[in-house]
Amino acid sequence: MTAKTRPALRSPVARVLSALPETAATVFAVAAFTGARSGEIRGLLWENYRDSEIQVTRSIWRGHVTEPKTRRGRGAIPVISPLATRLESYRARSGNPKAGAMFPNQNGEPMDLANLLNRSILPSLNRCTVCGKPKRECRKPRANVGSPDHEFERDKMLPEWHGWHAARRGLGTNLYRLAVPEKTIQAILRHANLSTTNTYYIKSAADDTRVAMAKLEKFCDWQRRRHNFPKWQRSGNT
Ligand SMILES: [Zn+2]
Repeated sequence: MTAKTRPALRSPVARVLSALPETAATVFAVAAFTGARSGEIRGLLWENYRDSEIQVTRSIWRGHVTEPKTRRGRGAIPVISPLATRLESYRARSGNPKAGAMFPNQNGEPMDLANLLNRSILPSLNRCTVCGKPKRECRKPRANVGSPDHEFERDKMLPEWHGWHAARRGLGTNLYRLAVPEKTIQAILRHANLSTTNTYYIKSAADDTRVAMAKLEKFCDWQRRRHNFPKWQRSGNT
């Protein structure tokens, strides 16, 4: 069996991307591969994307446009090829715009990511394991059939949604695991202080430690059984 046929081994980002329709997939790819905050993604303009970089020039939060407070906040984020490919096909589908909101709603205004979440992302990730439909559709009585014959049961094979910020934190964690220097991660996440960047991987470091100790525990257990120690030595934590 290859890695391709085992969905559980794919990265959380890849699993979410393959479960989402467009335009949600492209928006999520921007979140996961640039680490931009949701308000920053909402504020993105096509003018901000050039020379294989995305420049964060503004953020839109509850309809208010704000500009980054610090020089670091305005930093350019290099766009890696999987994201560039997605952005280019998304741009082509949108009629090749060169300027204006990168992710507009039907009125041409920057789209509200909360709407995208509720209308597109959550219904795609929370599907019924019995009928394959989103929760709302699963429980909807139909004219000729009446009430559904089963309760909604979430398909656990589908990835869970952990919020926009999880994509940003995930990027920091992955860069940390790839041994990217802290200063560089700080520049990519555009944190004003290194201490803020550090908080991003404290959790991942703790997780790594737990996984490592669990491995050691298993190894000790295996060794103990292999050498068939007297029973009094085998008691205790098993
Ligand atoms: Zn169902």
